[in-house]
Amino acid sequence: AGTGKFFVGGNWKCNGTKESITKLVSDLNSAKLEADVDVVVAPPFIYIDQVKNTLNARIEISGQNSWVGKGGAFTGEISVEQLNDIGCKWVILGHSERRHIIGEDDQFIGKKAAYALSQGLGVIACVGEKLEERESGKTFDVCFQQLKAFADAVPSWENVVIAYEPVWAIGTGKVATPIQAQEVHVALRDWLRKNVSAEVASKTRIIYGGSVNGGNSAELSKQEDIDGFLVGGASLKGPEFATIVNSVT
Ligand code: PEP
Repeated sequence: AGTGKFFVGGNWKCNGTKESITKLVSDLNSAKLEADVDVVVAPPFIYIDQVKNTLNARIEISGQNSWVGKGGAFTGEISVEQLNDIGCKWVILGHSERRHIIGEDDQFIGKKAAYALSQGLGVIACVGEKLEERESGKTFDVCFQQLKAFADAVPSWENVVIAYEPVWAIGTGKVATPIQAQEVHVALRDWLRKNVSAEVASKTRIIYGGSVNGGNSAELSKQEDIDGFLVGGASLKGPEFATIVNSVT
């Protein structure tokens, strides 16, 4: 972990029922969480209100996506204004499932980030390469291109956390090694130093996501440029998520 406050996000994706989420919230409420860690969970939109009303306020809430501009006639979308209204502090943007399954492109994601920030939401900005891109030596090119689209759009990095999430590691059980993750985190920080500013490079937290669990988080967190985690599957189990939150020592 670096010098910034450790940040752990739980991305619940399209999972859960009223009943299972009641149990997860109750497990999170009774877990002991290290004080010096920012902890955020991203429930499915329809359960945000339930979670907001029952979860200990020590844990902040994130949307998993948001509309690119002000809300209105956009059937099926959820606006930044609505996320603010319901008490969210964050939104996850550029997640690989939205890039590669839904088809969102870099520019669209950049615009979403700029709009969310303009309305006071924090942005968890995801980047990451696919397996074939890694195997053909394009990891840095792909991540830099995705990062550049954020950099071109956002007016400030103050409220942004970058999540490096290699697509081949998401939901696969194939976690990046601490060295593989650290290598990309350093490269992203370097890119920020050269293309944004030294201050943004040193202050922006870069978290890792991709098959993080209670058994591998402590090793990963020892890397100097890993400032936290974005956790999918393991965030659906309260005690394991708490172990990940507490893995930085
Ligand atoms: C994610 O979707 O952000 C993620 C990291 O998922 P998992 O932990 O399940 O690989």
